[in-house]
Amino acid sequence: MAESARYSLEEEQAIREAAVAGETPNCPRCGVPMTWRSIGGGSFGLGYARQRDWFLCPICRRSALFDRKRGTRT
Ligand SMILES: [Zn+2]
Repeated sequence: MAESARYSLEEEQAIREAAVAGETPNCPRCGVPMTWRSIGGGSFGLGYARQRDWFLCPICRRSALFDRKRGTRT
């Protein structure tokens, strides 16, 4: 089990694009639908509520975490 297994930036981008389009992203490496979880903000000591999308591949266990921007970028 590789602890530091991560997607490349390109792969993360592909996942994000699918998510933004309202689709369930497939793992770029395994080609299987990824598990999605929504992580609510406000409890991480950041001072403001933040919503994050967490996508996890059930096969290779890689995951990608994105901030969900609401309307405007900061
Ligand atoms: Zn995978």
